[in-house]
Amino acid sequence: MIECTGLTVHYGGIQALREVDLTVAEGEFVALTGANGAGKSTLLRALLGIAPVSAGRISFAGTDVTDLSTRERVRLGMGLVPEGRELFSGMTVAENLLLGGVRHTGWRPVPHAADLDRVVSLFPRLGDRMAQDAGTLSGGEQQMLALGRALMGRPTVLICDEPSTGLAPMLVAEILATLRTLCDEGLTVLLAEQNAVAALRVADRGYVLENGEVAVHGSAEALLHDPAVRRAYLGAA
Ligand code: ATP
Repeated sequence: MIECTGLTVHYGGIQALREVDLTVAEGEFVALTGANGAGKSTLLRALLGIAPVSAGRISFAGTDVTDLSTRERVRLGMGLVPEGRELFSGMTVAENLLLGGVRHTGWRPVPHAADLDRVVSLFPRLGDRMAQDAGTLSGGEQQMLALGRALMGRPTVLICDEPSTGLAPMLVAEILATLRTLCDEGLTVLLAEQNAVAALRVADRGYVLENGEVAVHGSAEALLHDPAVRRAYLGAA
């Protein structure tokens, strides 16, 4: 569903991504891990057309999207849950969700009942807080809202950047389990996550980035059980 080859990103003189090859098959859950600054966000942002690509190609659902705008990629079915959530504070939970659905409802958002019901069934806590200002939600609720808002756009692939940031371990597990459920229901998921072990436990395959390059990739199971990978990249013995 997503395939990138030789993907390279420069920020001025800094090379943040070096010739990265990555594939995500339809229905797959792929985890992208690596230390701070390894290039995870840069890779996700390049796939969406937000980070500047200096070399390489990106194809999505059979279309070469390398030269397409972010808007066009979203229209084709990419959905991003950005790092830091980037909710619209000063607007309610319901309004944030409706804005996530404008791909279908146009610029005068009207409730899309089935989509809203689905988000509320995934995250019942959002259902109780529809009229609350998004800026006053707890960290975990904000992450749920960021996910829900992305789902309102009915993406075919959900690209999720570090959803665990700032959350307690219980909530991290809950969010990752929800992503796994969504994948089991047919959604393709690409997740960037610093907490490699937790991410690989729910993913089908994984990539470890190091200094902007793919250091190792393989099935999540194999990565989790490879002693050298565990020592070098997973912070485990
Ligand atoms: P983290 O887990 O800390 O979010 P990451 O793996 O997502 O890290 P990136 O945010 O992709 O890493 O950053 C990769 C490198 O690119 C870093 O050295 C970072 O300083 C640099 N970088 C990222 N965004 C920019 C930018 N807009 N301008 C200049 N340098 C940038």
